[in-house]
Amino acid sequence: MLHVAIIAGILGLAVGSFLGACAYRIPRGIPLTGRRSFCPSCGSVLKWHELIPLVGPAFSRWLCRSCGANVSLRYSIVEITTAGCFVILSLTTSWDAGALLTTIFACTLIPLIWTDLEFFLIPNRILITGSVASLLEAGILVPAELGGRLLSSGGVLIGIYLLGKAVSTFVNRPALGLGDVKLAGFIAFHTGAALFLAALWTAAVGALLFVTVRRFQDPSPVALADSGILHIAGHDAIPFGSFLCGTSLALMIWKEVQPILFDQWLTLIP
Ligand SMILES: [Zn+2]
Repeated sequence: MLHVAIIAGILGLAVGSFLGACAYRIPRGIPLTGRRSFCPSCGSVLKWHELIPLVGPAFSRWLCRSCGANVSLRYSIVEITTAGCFVILSLTTSWDAGALLTTIFACTLIPLIWTDLEFFLIPNRILITGSVASLLEAGILVPAELGGRLLSSGGVLIGIYLLGKAVSTFVNRPALGLGDVKLAGFIAFHTGAALFLAALWTAAVGALLFVTVRRFQDPSPVALADSGILHIAGHDAIPFGSFLCGTSLALMIWKEVQPILFDQWLTLIP
């Protein structure tokens, strides 16, 4: 059991390293292949030992060896998150189609958390790659589930799109990006509608807390309730996709770890 977890952890660190590169390069239009990893501050190409996930940056204390600039902790966080997901999945699930689908799910959402946080962007390239991989995997390995999954995905996609339209009409400006709508469809394909709704509520609570904390850090004449409405109305955008990715992934992992407790909790969600 332990050796499986260790192998999964090492594999997760390596995959996380690639996902971190995707999250950095894709929104900036930098090709994923053909250019070796470099320091964003001085452009110096990183040596092989600096590229070892987690260990490389830790040895240089997250500072560039050439210019001394801080190396973003984001890479290490992405690597640890991915490794954590891989270890948990290796210990809790059997080696089946479901585990593979959850792995694809995690590998798609982890970079999206960062691209939305940094650029308010859900890159099509990541979402489409994840969607095609999910469709192929489900279609080949669990074709009997494909219809139900597509139904959940389509239902949520249309529901969220209409909700966004309704809110946009109400506040008279775009309220929900098309990226968020497509993301919702992708998540529901994996989680089903019930877990998606639970993730949506949890993400909304998280986003509200985020607004509250930001408001306390930066007091303004706008009242908290008004500020919340302004955020929802898109005046002061919040990376809602990041929250939705984070809560969906956390709930999926929780479901794998404690399915009974999770199902009980799910019945409490409206
Ligand atoms: Zn540098």
